[in-house]
Amino acid sequence: MQPMPEDWDRAVAVVAHPDDLEYGVASAVARWTGQGKQISYLLATRGEAGIVGLSPDQVGPLRVEEERRSAAVVGVTEVEFLDHPDGLVEYGIALRRDLAAAFRRLQPQVIITTSFDLTWGEEGPVNHSDHRAVGLAVLDACRDAANGWVFPDAGPPCASIRDAYVAGGDSPTHFVDVTDTIDAGIASLREHQAYIDGLGRDFDPDEFLRNMAGYTGMGAGCEYAVAFHRYPMG
Ligand SMILES: [Zn+2]
Repeated sequence: MQPMPEDWDRAVAVVAHPDDLEYGVASAVARWTGQGKQISYLLATRGEAGIVGLSPDQVGPLRVEEERRSAAVVGVTEVEFLDHPDGLVEYGIALRRDLAAAFRRLQPQVIITTSFDLTWGEEGPVNHSDHRAVGLAVLDACRDAANGWVFPDAGPPCASIRDAYVAGGDSPTHFVDVTDTIDAGIASLREHQAYIDGLGRDFDPDEFLRNMAGYTGMGAGCEYAVAFHRYPMG
C-alpha cells in the first residue's frame, strides 16, 4: 500500500446509508478537513429501513439528523440525500444520473465510496445490496459526469474527477494515516446513537474502530490507518 496522495482540495464521499462513512472512513475525512480540504457527503438513502421495531417514518428524520451531526464532528457541513428507497436501491440509470448530476455540480477531484464486493472479506457475510448498487454506480457515474452526451440535462460535464477510492475492499492499494484523527472518527460514529441502540447488542465504537484501523495500520506502518483501493479515472 502507498500513502494516498493529498494534492487535491475537493472530494465527494458517496454511500448508501447514514453511518456507512462512520465505520472507518470518517477518521480519514477528519484528517482531510483538518488540512483545509472541502468534503461533501452524498447519501443515496435516508436509512429509513435501518432500525428493527421503528417505522421508516420515524427513523428517516432521526437518521438524517444523526448523519448531519456525525458529519459536523469531522468538519463536513454539506450533506445531501438522494432519497432512493432504503433497502431497495437499484443499480441503474436513475441512480447514475443522480450521482452524475451531483458530481457535475460539486466538481470534485476525488470520489470516495465503500466496498461493492459481494461479501465482506473472502468468507465474510454478504455485503448489503444497497452498498453493492451504490458502489458500482459511483464508479460508473464518474465517467458519466465527464461525458456531456450522457445525461445532457444534468448540468454541464465535469472533467475534474481524477480518482475514485473505495474503502473496505479486499485489495487495498492506498492508505491514509489516521493516527491523529481517529478520536474524531470515533466521535463521529457515536453520533449514530439511535442506530447503535437499535442493534440490540453491545457495540463499542471505540474498540471497533481502533481494532480495524490498528490492523490496517500494521500493514501501512503507522498506528492507525484507513485503506482504499484506487480506481484512476483519467
Ligand atoms: Zn449501509
